[in-house]
Parts: sequence; structure tokens; C-alpha cells
Amino acid sequence: MLIGKREKISEEKNKKLEVIAIIGLMLFAIISYFVTTFIFKKDRNNISVFVNGEQITQIAGHRIDLNIPGTYTIGDPNGDYNIIEIRDHKVRCIDANCPDKICVSHGYLNPKIDNDIIVCAPHKLTIQYQ
Ligand SMILES: [Zn+2]
Repeated sequence: MLIGKREKISEEKNKKLEVIAIIGLMLFAIISYFVTTFIFKKDRNNISVFVNGEQITQIAGHRIDLNIPGTYTIGDPNGDYNIIEIRDHKVRCIDANCPDKICVSHGYLNPKIDNDIIVCAPHKLTIQYQ
């Protein structure tokens, strides 16, 4: 009788521990999900565009935002220009009149590469994630 009772108690304890472990794992999964989602959004949800070391946040009245698709021309009075395209939360330089066109050949800024950057050295333009 006594031994049987003890076994029952330890079985109940094991069940309690199992439930606690399952809840703990679920909480861990939920917290991890929100943390990674938040960090992902914080890191990759917007871009910064610099020309001559100055940040540009608007082009012709349009806010530069990865969530707002569009094609924007960044030009200067000398006739230099870069055309950037924002599409499907991605950004690339689709055309420019610089001599090397390295900015165009870069393609989309890659969110999986840390510190990926589109550079147009002749026009002193850079595009990267914030
Ligand atoms: Zn270029």
C-alpha cells in the first residue's frame, strides 16, 4: 500500500513536470518568434539612401520606404541620375548614367547579407538597410 502510494505521487509529479516543460517550450517558441520577427523588421524593413554623405528620405515628395513600391529618380543639376526601384520590399538601382554602372549590376539589396550596400561611387550614392 505504502509503496503504491509513493509511486502514484511521483507519477503525478512527473506529469506536472512534463506540463511545465511543454508550457516552457511553447513560451520559448512564441518569444523566439516575436523576437526574431521584431529584429528582422527592425533591421530589414527600411533603407537609407545617402547622396554626397547626406541622407535622402524623400524624392520629389515621395517618402522612401520599403513598404511603398515605386520607381524614383535621384538626380542632380549636372544631369547625373540614378533610378531606384522599390518592389516587393526589395530595392535596386535599375538605371544610372554613371560610367561604371556597378550600382545597376549589383541588383537587389540582399537582406540575407549583413551590411549589403549598393554603391554608385561616381555619383557618391549609397543604398543600404537601416
Ligand atoms: Zn553607378
